[in-house]
Amino acid sequence: MATIIDTHVHPANDLFVEQGGESLQHALDYFGKDFSPEPIEETGEKLRAAGVDTAILFALDSESNTGTPAIPNDWVAEVKDDYDLFRGFASVDPHKGESARQEAVRAIEDLDLDGFKFQQAVQGFSPSDRQYDELWATLEDLGKPVLFHGGHTGIGAGSPGGDGLMLKHTRPLHIDEVAARYPDLDIIIAHPAWPYHQEQLSIVTHKSNVYMDLSGWRPKYIPDEVIHYAKSRISDKVLFGSDYPMVTPDVWLSDFEEMDFDDETREKILHENAERLFDL
Ligand SMILES: [Zn+2]
Repeated sequence: MATIIDTHVHPANDLFVEQGGESLQHALDYFGKDFSPEPIEETGEKLRAAGVDTAILFALDSESNTGTPAIPNDWVAEVKDDYDLFRGFASVDPHKGESARQEAVRAIEDLDLDGFKFQQAVQGFSPSDRQYDELWATLEDLGKPVLFHGGHTGIGAGSPGGDGLMLKHTRPLHIDEVAARYPDLDIIIAHPAWPYHQEQLSIVTHKSNVYMDLSGWRPKYIPDEVIHYAKSRISDKVLFGSDYPMVTPDVWLSDFEEMDFDDETREKILHENAERLFDL
């Protein structure tokens, strides 16, 4: 069987529940999930059972915007050290200024993490805002990929005011500005960025340093235009990710199996593109 790299995994444990607070519950309702937290060992076993060989696990610090405790970078680094299956992306809270920048350096140089994850609606910031330039310059120097959330989010969905989260922050055009100013920074726009997926496809086509993942959507529901581009123009820049536990890799991969991707493109999406981008 082919190698499978799941590039988008959240821990489904107590840390995840505390970090997500009430708006996570709204997300789970939105995804129709009957959810109870599980230790990371169990997540690892489920991913392996689905055929995943390598999984990228995400920290998240949105303390300034949501007031909830972070999924700490140190914990993700421990998981990476303890399990062959896992690699890890760090998170820094952009509102924390210079200490966020220093934490980013520590996450790579001391903790040996593999990149960075941002969720702009949850963290409450727009990447194009010039006040974050120093942070992006530091990340570019560190030489690791950065993942930004793209488009709609289930977090806060269906609640009054969407729990105060603003969708304007997740528009791909904010990410385009960062990609233009930091051409040596590799950027992944996570998820088909519906309803801005056309904007996203344009950016991924336009800028060689921008990639996307197909996480958070069962493949059979991904907009046709995204599938068409994934098979053609941008087949070297599309990554498999599940968005565990929102979408699980067993379900994602069985949907994908049913779709008419040729073998060459399948290999690119399931592992080759990730191997190249993450230097695996
Ligand atoms: Zn996610």
